[in-house]
Amino acid sequence: MPTPDFDVLVIGAGYAGLSAATTLQAQGLSVALLEARDRVGGRTLELPVAGIPRLELGGQYFADVQERITQLVKDVGLQAVPAWSEGDSFLALGDRVARYQSTPARCLVEQLDFPAEVGAEIEATLGELNRLYPQVSGATPWACDDAEAWDAVTFETWIERRIASPTGREFFRFLTNQAYSTEPGQISLLQMLWFINTSHGLPPWATGGAQANRVAGGTQLVAQKLAERLGDSLHLNQTVQAIQQDEDSVRVQTQYREYSARTAIICLPPQLVAGLNYTPSLPSDLHRAFSAQQTGNTMKVQAVYARPFWRDNGWSGNGINWAGPQTFTYDNTLPDSDVGVLLGFLTARRATDMLRLPQEERKSAVLQAWADVFGPEALTPIDYIEKDWTADEFTRGGYGCHVPPGFWCELGPAFGGEAMPRFGRLCWAASDLAKDWNGYLEGALYAGEQAAAEAAALVAAVPRLEFQLS
Ligand SMILES: Cc1cc2nc3c(=O)[nH]c(=O)nc-3n(C[C@H](O)[C@H](O)[C@H](O)COP(=O)(O)OP(=O)(O)OC[C@H]3O[C@@H](n4cnc5c(N)ncnc54)[C@H](O)[C@@H]3O)c2cc1C
Repeated sequence: MPTPDFDVLVIGAGYAGLSAATTLQAQGLSVALLEARDRVGGRTLELPVAGIPRLELGGQYFADVQERITQLVKDVGLQAVPAWSEGDSFLALGDRVARYQSTPARCLVEQLDFPAEVGAEIEATLGELNRLYPQVSGATPWACDDAEAWDAVTFETWIERRIASPTGREFFRFLTNQAYSTEPGQISLLQMLWFINTSHGLPPWATGGAQANRVAGGTQLVAQKLAERLGDSLHLNQTVQAIQQDEDSVRVQTQYREYSARTAIICLPPQLVAGLNYTPSLPSDLHRAFSAQQTGNTMKVQAVYARPFWRDNGWSGNGINWAGPQTFTYDNTLPDSDVGVLLGFLTARRATDMLRLPQEERKSAVLQAWADVFGPEALTPIDYIEKDWTADEFTRGGYGCHVPPGFWCELGPAFGGEAMPRFGRLCWAASDLAKDWNGYLEGALYAGEQAAAEAAALVAAVPRLEFQLS
C-alpha cells in the first residue's frame, strides 16, 4: 500500500474547513484543503459596489459572547465594529408605522394600540420558550425527557395551542423566519428549542438586547486572511466528486485529479453531503440523516444611497415590516463611509415567493416597503444588490439547514452525539453540524476545531483501523 500524500484532506474552504485545516497545519500535520470555487469563504462573500469596496452578501454579524470569531478577527489583524443602532427602530404594520426602542412586543401594545393581551401572550410564550430550551442539549437533543412529544409536534401547532391572537402568532412566525430561515410548520418544537439552545437564547431583537458586531473589511476578508496561512496547501477549483476509503487511507477524486490521505474531513453544507459518491456507501442511517436536511431560504437585498438619509429623521434604519417583503431591515452603512446602505432580509416562504418574481418586480416591492417608512428617497438608490444562495450550486440555501418533525428521535444519533459525524476515516464538520452556535460563523469555527481534533486522533491511531466498512 503506497504512503498517502497527506495526513488529512479537508474538503470545503468555508469557515469550518479553514478552521480545521489551519488547526491541523499548526499541529504539524500535512494538509490539503480542497475547494470547489475559485475563492474561499463559502457562505461569506463580499463584492465591490458603487462607493463601497466590500459589500457583505452572506454571513456578517457576530456577538461578543462568540469567543472564537471575536478572537479570530483580532488574530488576523482586523477590527470588530458595532452594527449601527443609534435612533429609533420601526415596526410597520399595514399603513401604520411605529417607533420602538424596547421590544417589538411592547411596541405593538404601546405604540400601535393593540390590546394588552397581545403583548402579554407574546411575553408569556417567550418566557415558556426560555424555560424549556435549557432542557434540550446541543449534542443529544433526543435524550431529554419530553423529546418524543416535542419532536412529534410542529412549532406552528404549539404556537396555535398557546396563542389566540393572529398578531401574536405572526410574531412567532417572524421569529422563526428571521432567526432560522424556515416556517414554524416545517420544524418540530424540539428543533426550535434545540435552535434556541445552540444559539444561547432567543434572538436579541425579540427580547430587546444589544446589536451584533461586524468586521471592518468584512467576514470574507477574515477567511481570506486565514487562507493565507495555508499557502500551497489550499487547492482552489477542485470540486470533490467521489470519496473512497479502506482500512489504511482515503482517496478523493475531483474533476482534475486524485488526492490521498490518512483521513478526511468533509466540510460541505450538509445538504450537499449525500450528493458525493462514497465507496463503501455511507451507513444507511447516516445517509438518511444527511438526505433529510432541508435548507433554509434567506436572501439579503441591499440598496445603496448617497448618504444614510433615514438618520435625519431619527431612524436607526433597523426595523420590522410586518407585510414584507423584507421582514427585517438593518442599516448596513460602513462606519467610515458617507454612503448609506439599507439591508433587507427576505426569509423562508416570503423569499421563495419573491424569487418567483422577475428581478425588477422584486426590487420595486423591496424599495416601496422602505419608502413607506423612510420616504420617497428610498425609491432611488445608486445601486441595488441581491444574492440568492439557493441558486448557488456549492451552497443551495441559507442561512443553514433544519430537519423535519420526527427527525431527531429517529436519526439524530447518526450525527455522533458529543462527537462529530464519523464513518471510518471520514469526519464531517459545518456550521450546521455544530453542537454549539449551530448555523453561525462561530459554530463553523467550533465544528472545524472539533473535527480537527478527532481527525488528528485518527491519524495518531494505529495505521490500520479496526472498523466495519460493509
Ligand atoms: C444570507 C446569509 C446570511 C447569514 N448571516 C449570518 C450572520 O450574520 N452571522 C453568522 O454568524 N452567520 C450567518 N450566516 C451563516 C454563516 O454564513 C454560515 O453558517 C457559515 O458561513 C457556514 O460555514 P461552513 O464552513 O460551515 O459552510 P460554507 O461556508 O457553506 O462552506 C462550505 C464550502 O464547501 C465548498 N464546497 C461545496 N461543494 C464542494 C465540493 N463538491 N468540493 C469541494 N468544495 C465544495 C463550498 O464552495 C464552500 O466554500 C448567514 C448565511 C447566509 C447565507
